[in-house]
Amino acid sequence: MGIVVQKYGGTSVASTDRIRNVARRIVATAEKGHPVVVVVSAMGHTTDQLMGQALEISPVPRARELDMLLSAGERISMSLLSMAIIDMGREAISLTGSQAGIVTDTTHTKARIVDVRARRILEALDAGKIVIVAGFQGVSTISNDVTTLGRGGSDTTAVALAAALGAEVCEIYTDVDGVYTADPRVVPDARKLHVATYEEMLEMAACGARVLMLRSVEYARNYKVVLHVRSSFNNEQGTFVKEGDERMEKALISGVVHDTSEAMIRIRRVPDRPGIAAKVFGSLAAEAINVDMIVQNVSEDGRTDQTFTLPRADLPRSEEALGRIAAEIGAEGWTAEPEIGKVSLVGAGMRSHPGVAAKMFQTLAQAGINIEMISTSSIRISVVVQAAEVERAVRLIHAAFELPQGAILREAHGQMPEISSSELEGV
Ligand code: ADP
Ligand code: ASP
Ligand code: MG
Repeated sequence: MGIVVQKYGGTSVASTDRIRNVARRIVATAEKGHPVVVVVSAMGHTTDQLMGQALEISPVPRARELDMLLSAGERISMSLLSMAIIDMGREAISLTGSQAGIVTDTTHTKARIVDVRARRILEALDAGKIVIVAGFQGVSTISNDVTTLGRGGSDTTAVALAAALGAEVCEIYTDVDGVYTADPRVVPDARKLHVATYEEMLEMAACGARVLMLRSVEYARNYKVVLHVRSSFNNEQGTFVKEGDERMEKALISGVVHDTSEAMIRIRRVPDRPGIAAKVFGSLAAEAINVDMIVQNVSEDGRTDQTFTLPRADLPRSEEALGRIAAEIGAEGWTAEPEIGKVSLVGAGMRSHPGVAAKMFQTLAQAGINIEMISTSSIRISVVVQAAEVERAVRLIHAAFELPQGAILREAHGQMPEISSSELEGV
């Protein structure tokens, strides 16, 4: 029987009772005869709490030490889960990322997996054990230090292990039943997607749908790992994330995604000459700060404003660099606006259906919501609005595109077709 990889997120292991519940599910899978490898997140809000403690000690903690601290969260849940399984009469062993052979580069707090040396996992499986691996962490064989993969990184651990082990399935157990047309906590009538293609899921994850970490979807696409996102609290089928094929119906819109984890930076009155953007964004990249949306205005008197977003968590770390960059390029100064949010409409069908952006902007205009920035790709439209307006914007856009009724259609040509709920079947 094929290897099954299961990943359980923080809410699913938030208490000892929930850990026992998860242990029962794992044992049930093993009883069917599958070799089982489990990846666990830290219990509940442990990672946030550890992060808070670090910030109480140091405003900009040394990244190596932060990784040592944060990786401790998953060690707690992995060992407790292993104990629970052993007490149910099955053999189990917990392994840290390093022990499990998760080799990363040296970029602390957002390391990338470069190799999976699964020998120890395979030996344990051969010995009939259920293997529990601490998610979100690895080791750099260059520095010999523990690294972490970035928030939500246990998803990536699971996909990397599933790829390396040639697993039959990679199940991502979380606190919702699957991937929805919007965050079901914000839009109560959001609809569960039965299937999403890697392409759609990549855009949704990149826009901030927390349910899967972006890197895990990239990894899954590269290694053709089929993901099944489902709830650890029931047995319902969730959402399959896989390659699109001819038979799959095309969604005009897959969903409305929001992200309130970014801040907006404006570098004011930047000299408008070649090389300035390269300097600004090169310097930020050198500090491993990921910039997201970028807008540069048309210049006036040889000067322009450069506006962009970056993770709010990176703001303290970026302040020194931003001050230095602004001075070096002779800009007038810079400001940060932390109270913003990004709302994105994602859907592969947008490519062939004009009018989607206009409808989204009209919806916001009618509600008196001001758009601060706009960016698009061929299958996405994103806007930045004030943080306080984000949830209202998501609900309005979700309703305007009739997503609760199932705004799914066969690929049609020409203008935006009528959307009908009867098209939902078979998606
Ligand atoms: P875990 O701890 O299991 O990894 P996360 O909190 O990282 O769980 O991700 C699950 C959460 O993602 C859900 O509770 C939900 O609020 C949020 N979410 C955001 N967008 C979506 C979406 N489109 N579909 C499902 N869940 C979403
Ligand atoms: N515990 C880590 C986090 O909270 C990793 C994860 O849960 O995937 O981000
Ligand atoms: Mg997560």
